[in-house]
Amino acid sequence: MTIPVPADVISRLKAVLGEGGWSQDPERLAPKLLEWRDRWSGQTPFLALPGSTEAVSAVVGICFEAGVPITPQGGNTGLVGGQIPMGEILLSTERLRAVRDVDALDDVMVVEAGVTLAGAHEAALAKNRRFPLDLASQGTATIGGVISTNAGGTAVLRYGTTRDLVLGLEAVLPNGEVWNGLKRLRKDNTGYDLKQLLIGAEGTLGVVTAASLKLFPILPSRAVAIVGLASPRAALDLLARAKEAAGGGVEAFELISRVGVDFALKNIAGQRDPLAQTHPWYVLVELASGEPGSAEAALERLLAQALESGLIADAAVAQTKTQAQALWSLRENQSPAQKPEGATWKHDVSVPVSRVADFLDEAGAAMTAFAPGCRICAFGHVGDGNIHYDVLRPDGGDDGAHSAARDEGSRRVHDIVARLGGSISAEHGLGAMKTQEALRYKAPVEVAALRAIRAALDPKRIMNPRVHF
Ligand SMILES: Cc1cc2nc3c(=O)[nH]c(=O)nc-3n(C[C@H](O)[C@H](O)[C@H](O)COP(=O)(O)OP(=O)(O)OC[C@H]3O[C@@H](n4cnc5c(N)ncnc54)[C@H](O)[C@@H]3O)c2cc1C
Repeated sequence: MTIPVPADVISRLKAVLGEGGWSQDPERLAPKLLEWRDRWSGQTPFLALPGSTEAVSAVVGICFEAGVPITPQGGNTGLVGGQIPMGEILLSTERLRAVRDVDALDDVMVVEAGVTLAGAHEAALAKNRRFPLDLASQGTATIGGVISTNAGGTAVLRYGTTRDLVLGLEAVLPNGEVWNGLKRLRKDNTGYDLKQLLIGAEGTLGVVTAASLKLFPILPSRAVAIVGLASPRAALDLLARAKEAAGGGVEAFELISRVGVDFALKNIAGQRDPLAQTHPWYVLVELASGEPGSAEAALERLLAQALESGLIADAAVAQTKTQAQALWSLRENQSPAQKPEGATWKHDVSVPVSRVADFLDEAGAAMTAFAPGCRICAFGHVGDGNIHYDVLRPDGGDDGAHSAARDEGSRRVHDIVARLGGSISAEHGLGAMKTQEALRYKAPVEVAALRAIRAALDPKRIMNPRVHF
């Protein structure tokens, strides 16, 4: 459905955006209206392509005045459909591409919302610094997108989520006013923190236009290994040992199932079985340290002791950067490798780290009972309790029947997560996909408070109206 937008609003938007600042060309619009897995496709009467914060402010101000809804979009890599407009004006940040500053003494960089995450990595690297947010989508995902979804990724164990990496924001609030909160402070205890409200808001409280981000030193010592083990419980024991062995140096601790390895071998070109024998579970572990050689030594020690005590069955340490990349490619291809396997119920859940194995046991039993023959592909950031828990249709089964049972199946998974004190969206957000489902698990008092905040900032509910409460 296209939401009718008065002709004079479109004319005013064209006037403030100028040539090259908007489009209504179906071919130009098409890639922005389709989610990468083809799960959501949308419509829009108008694509706004503002090239400055002032232009964003003008667009949002006009829409606010007229009560016309807006969906902001960055790289369109979101996995919960929040960036796909269903008739709203689409506001893309693709022209907000400036790296405004990289300051190695403050350990801060200031970048605009449309800079890709990979672009931010490069800008930091040019000043011998690291911005430690790592996602498989980083070539396309934008700074505005990762902030608005509070993205996580593979280095959360050491550096936290996006929320922990943002020092300041510049944003256009729903009434069109610009808030310049681009501070570079490590300490600022002056009451409510507006930037933290905008982080993870998925475009519902305004448009993020720029951010100041924390930088870190580049660590010279880095070691990666893949480990074969019998169970997620053994993986948790290994995690505890890795934390002790490496101090704060565990950068990543990722779980992969044999099912996922088999999908990757079958469906992704160039993948190799990582160990000589097959194992029910694998962990990809990466350690890093500032002291040359020490991550490599800590990893060797950790694995030797774990092998000797029978905690793990086998391990291979990457000897070169290429080998390390090949191990990471196995992990990063876990989602794409499932695509040819048919209909899937996808879950992005978290539980306390100590309950990961309980979750996998309970959810496995529930899914096997509910959907006999289903194939469970669980993988992810086990080091921070975040599991991507994907339930695929039986081999050779019917896609339609599996999709039809999704809501009921997912409800069972989510109920287990809630009972274990977890979250039904660990890192992807709520978007169009999970907003209703989240209402089941949030306390009414919390939902009422969140609605009051939104109504105060956006009384006409123009910003991403289908997302959040
Ligand atoms: C292969 C692959 C791997 C991924 N791996 C991870 C992972 O490990 N961890 C993880 O957390 N996510 C992951 N994601 C999901 C996705 O990349 C992240 O959610 C990312 O943060 C989205 O950024 P984007 O620029 O593409 O945002 P979009 O998809 O364009 O938008 C996402 C949401 O943010 C809003 N938004 C975007 N820009 C702005 C802005 N400037 N101001 C206000 N609102 C805005 C949109 O309205 C939408 O609600 C993965 C996705 C893919 C395809």
